[in-house]
Amino acid sequence: MESAVNSLVDSSVAVSGWIAIAALALVVAVGILHLWRTHARIAQRTQALEVELDERRRIEAQLEAIHAQLEERVSERTRSLEARNRELTQLRLTLETANQRLRRLVTVDALTGVANRRHFDRELERELRRARRDGVPLSLVFLDLDEFKKFNDTYGHARGDDVLRSVARTLNETFRRAGDFVARYGGEEFAIVLPGLDARRAALYAERLRRRIWREAIPFDVTTHGRVTISAGVSTVVPPMMATADDLLRGADRALYRSKCLGRNRIASAPVEPAILEASKAAS
Ligand code: GH3
Ligand code: MG
Ligand code: MG
Repeated sequence: MESAVNSLVDSSVAVSGWIAIAALALVVAVGILHLWRTHARIAQRTQALEVELDERRRIEAQLEAIHAQLEERVSERTRSLEARNRELTQLRLTLETANQRLRRLVTVDALTGVANRRHFDRELERELRRARRDGVPLSLVFLDLDEFKKFNDTYGHARGDDVLRSVARTLNETFRRAGDFVARYGGEEFAIVLPGLDARRAALYAERLRRRIWREAIPFDVTTHGRVTISAGVSTVVPPMMATADDLLRGADRALYRSKCLGRNRIASAPVEPAILEASKAAS
């Protein structure tokens, strides 16, 4: 009986041992299965990540290529813009120089370098307006070389041109106040606008010029003085004034004519015209 119990116990121990082994085996199998599935998932995920990484690298490489292309195009464009800019700057300079030359041609007398008649006409109008506005006098000197036709006939036209240039230089040296304006009126005649100068001071300046040219003693053997001389007429408007540029020019021209009639090589001043006086009275 005891041995039957023992064998029963033995066999139940054996059974429970097998059960434990089986359970352990099952646990191990489940564990292995779990590990294998985890491993499979990781491998799958790793593969997906690698694919994704490859894709990213490809896209990055494409982006870099596009970026490099863009940079190249931008710098190419910048280079061509810079070249165009240089061309435009050069063109602008050429245009400015041409404009300056043109302005000079339009306003400057080619022979003497002083202002030409056209420039003078505009300047005289402008100075008259300014004198009226500021209530200051304005004088005009009209100057003519004496017996210049004879000079040309005696020494030739080229020497005559030299004299005209020399007189223009002397004019520029004599009338140097800001606003003084020297012009070649035509032929051997010059005109000088003197803003702010009354008749007395303008006549003094004109006389100073006459003496300067006298002292230069440009040879002119066939005349009484043996040298080049000038005659001049001075006219002045004083505020309040209604005189026009024509009034001033006529006044200076008449005064010049008087200088010529009185024997040349002298200065004469135009009296203030009654018409101007009356107009001035009417304005005041
Ligand atoms: P007057 O004393 O009365 O002014 O006599 P004039 O001989 O100076 O006057 P006229 O009007 O008879 O002659 C002016 C001369 O000026 C004639 C012309 O040959 C000369 N002339 C005008 N323009 C020029 C020029 O550009 N160059 C030269 N060399 N002579 C010129
Ligand atoms: Mg003349
Ligand atoms: Mg003359």
